[in-house]
Amino acid sequence: MLLSEIEIFKKKNKYPDFKPKAIFFDMDGVLFDSMKFHAVSWLKAMLQVGLPFTETEAYMNEGRTGASTIDNVFVAVRGRNATEKEKKEIYKIKSTHFEACGKIERMPFALELLQKIKAENKDIFVVTGSGQPSLIDSLQENFPDIFKKEKMVTAFDVTNGKPHPEPYLKALKKSGLQPWEVVVIENAPLGVESANAAGLFTIAVNTGPLNPEVLSNSGANLVLKDMEDLYVKWDKLF
Ligand code: CA
Repeated sequence: MLLSEIEIFKKKNKYPDFKPKAIFFDMDGVLFDSMKFHAVSWLKAMLQVGLPFTETEAYMNEGRTGASTIDNVFVAVRGRNATEKEKKEIYKIKSTHFEACGKIERMPFALELLQKIKAENKDIFVVTGSGQPSLIDSLQENFPDIFKKEKMVTAFDVTNGKPHPEPYLKALKKSGLQPWEVVVIENAPLGVESANAAGLFTIAVNTGPLNPEVLSNSGANLVLKDMEDLYVKWDKLF
């Protein structure tokens, strides 16, 4: 099954080969079961400043930087971008709600998969739109000896967040690898779009409430149910 997907991917991108040496992981909704908390925090923050927002919108905007999410709502509702002050204010409210959500759990089978990949001597990167300092710190706590600071791309490292290819292109540059030597694990439509635009093979794990077709339509080379599904199938994939 996967062989044909790899052939299609190689052909489309005119790549001479496909040999994964590094795996780029998105963070929220892939490594952490945090998206439900992000969604509800966005909802509460927008409501507090009188902006309409839905859970589906939160999931459809997943992967964007906070500033870009706020701008999008402003353009739709008020016909203009938010000012820097408004962005800062709303993101602060959102962050406060998020922190109050309590302990963020690891996504089931994320640690097991990372340990397997580490044992295979493949490089592991995190590529996230998140700018939550607490969440980035908790990567070390939840996944000891897996991540290195120099192998992360966060909201602080990019000018253009997902769906722009910049985050994944930046990770690719840091890795020193060719685009056919990388596999991306994403869960959100905009994240898939970003990885796809960077020319990388993208596996989507549909850990949220969206229809799986949304992920294939965004350009995912393969859509799986969740991280357990990916863990179970991993050895057969590559
Ligand atoms: Ca995500």
